[in-house]
Amino acid sequence: MSTKVRVRFAPSPTGGLHLGGVRTVLYNYLFARQNQGDFILRIEDTDQTRFVEGAEQYIIDCLKWCGLNPDEGPHIGGTYAPYRQSERKSMYRQYADQLVAQGNAYYAFDLPEDLEKMRETFKTPENPSPQYDRNVRDKMRNSLSLTTEETQQLLANGTPYVIRIKMPDNETVQFNDMIRGEVSFHTGLIDDKVLLKADGMPTYHLAVVVDDYLMKITHAFRGEEWLPSSPVHVLLWKYLGWEAAMPQWAHLPLILKPDGNGKLSKRDGDRLGFPVFAMDWQDPKSNEINQGFKERGFLPEAFVNMLAMMGWNDGTDQEIFSLDELISKFSLDRVHKAGAKFDFEKAKWFNHEWIKKTDAKKLVALVAPLLEKEGIQTDPDFLEKVIQLVKERCTFLTDFVGQSRFFFETPSAYDNAAVQPKWNAEKQAFFTGMVTDFKSFEPFEATALEAHFKNKATEKGLKPGDVMMPMRIMLVGGKFGPGVFEIAETVGRTETIVRMEKALNLFADFL
Ligand code: GLU
Repeated sequence: MSTKVRVRFAPSPTGGLHLGGVRTVLYNYLFARQNQGDFILRIEDTDQTRFVEGAEQYIIDCLKWCGLNPDEGPHIGGTYAPYRQSERKSMYRQYADQLVAQGNAYYAFDLPEDLEKMRETFKTPENPSPQYDRNVRDKMRNSLSLTTEETQQLLANGTPYVIRIKMPDNETVQFNDMIRGEVSFHTGLIDDKVLLKADGMPTYHLAVVVDDYLMKITHAFRGEEWLPSSPVHVLLWKYLGWEAAMPQWAHLPLILKPDGNGKLSKRDGDRLGFPVFAMDWQDPKSNEINQGFKERGFLPEAFVNMLAMMGWNDGTDQEIFSLDELISKFSLDRVHKAGAKFDFEKAKWFNHEWIKKTDAKKLVALVAPLLEKEGIQTDPDFLEKVIQLVKERCTFLTDFVGQSRFFFETPSAYDNAAVQPKWNAEKQAFFTGMVTDFKSFEPFEATALEAHFKNKATEKGLKPGDVMMPMRIMLVGGKFGPGVFEIAETVGRTETIVRMEKALNLFADFL
C-alpha cells in the first residue's frame, strides 16, 4: 500500500497573507487534490514576539475566499490535533533532550550580553557578523565548553538555557528538491541554530521537523526563502532517526518585483498601486489597511488562476484554467526554478477574462453589495440583465458600479459639451417625435427600437450617427455604456420616456 499524500501550509500568524503565501497554499492544495491526499493547515506560532492578533483567522478567511480549504486545521480539528504549535509545546522537549543525549545538540547558558560580546570580539572585515558556530562555540558558556559537573550544577540551579544544534564540522548535506533537483550545503557554513528556547518553546526549526513527522507529512512545499534552513531540517530528520519518513521537499520560486530584482514586497504594491495581500489586511498595531485583491474587485477564480501561472504552465499556450482543470493538469516538474516577476496588468487581464466567463446570475451576489454600498437598491433579476450587458466592460468587480449605475438612476447631469454645439430645431423636433412614437411602439425591444429610430432619422434627413450620440446622452448622461437601445429596452418604456423628456427640456435651452 502506498502512503497517503499529506501536505501542509504552515504559516506563522504574523500578518496578512500575501501573493506568495497564497501561491504556496495553492500548489499544496493542487498536489493534495491531485493525489487524493490531505491538505493540512498548521499554525506556526512558537515565536510569540511576532504573534499578531487576528492573523490566524485572517489566513483561514483567505483560504476560504480562494476556495482552497484545508482538510485539517486549528478551526476544524483532525486526527493530528492540535494544529497550533503553541498548543503542542509539551511535545517538543523530549526530542530536544534526545538530541542532547545523542551529542547532536547542547545546552547553552549564554546571556544576551555574552552573545553581544561574542559578536564584537570575533568581528573581522571578512566576517562582520559572526554567528554562534563551530568557530566560537568552545569559547562560549555551554555544555560543550564546560565540564559535565559544571553543566549539571548550572542545570540544578535552574540557570536559564537554550538548546542548540551542534552543526557537524565538515559534512555535506544533500537532498533532492522536487523543483531544483539535487541541492547540497556545506555544514561548516551554518550556525548552531537554537532548537529550544529558554521558556521551553521550540523554535521553528525543531517544531517544523517534529510536526512534519508527527503529522505524517509526505511532501513539504514552501517558499524558496526557506531553502537555506533546509540542511538544518534534513540533519534533524536524520539525528532523530526519522530519515526514511522525511518528506520530499519542493522550494517554490520567489515572486519578484515587477520592475527590478528581489522579492515582491508590500512596499512595491504601495509604490506601484496594486495590492499584494489576498484580502484587506488591517495591521492591528498601526490600524493601517493594506488593500487586498478581494476588495480591489478580483474574482477568487481569477486570483487563483493568475497565481497558478506565476511559476507554472502546462506546456501549451493555455492561460485560463479553472481550479478543477488545475487539479488535473498541475505538475511540479513544470514549476520553474527561476522567480516570476509579478505583472499587475496581466493580473487585470485574468480578472477581465474571468468576469466575462462567469455567469451573470453568479455575479449578482457579488455585485449587489457593491451597488448597495453606493445606495443603489437592486432587484436580482433586473441586476442580472444589467450585468449581462456590461460585464464585457468590467475589469474589476468594482467597475460594475460605474458601468451600471445609470440603469438604476435617471441621470442628473449631462455631457452638454457633446450635445450643445450641434443641437438644432430639427433634432429637437425629431426627438420630440420619437418620444411620442416610443409611448406606444411595439415591441419595446432593442433591435426594433433601433430600426425604427434610424429609419425615422433618415426620413427626416438626419444622419443616424448624429442622433445616436444625443440619444445615448439622454439615457445615461455621457458617452459611455453598452448599446443605446439595449439600455432603453433594459430600463423599459416608462423610464426611457422620462429620461428623454427630462433631457429634451434641458437641451431646448441650447436652441
Ligand atoms: N512557518 C514558516 C512560514 O512562516 C513555514 C515554512 C515551512 O513551510 O517550513 O512560512
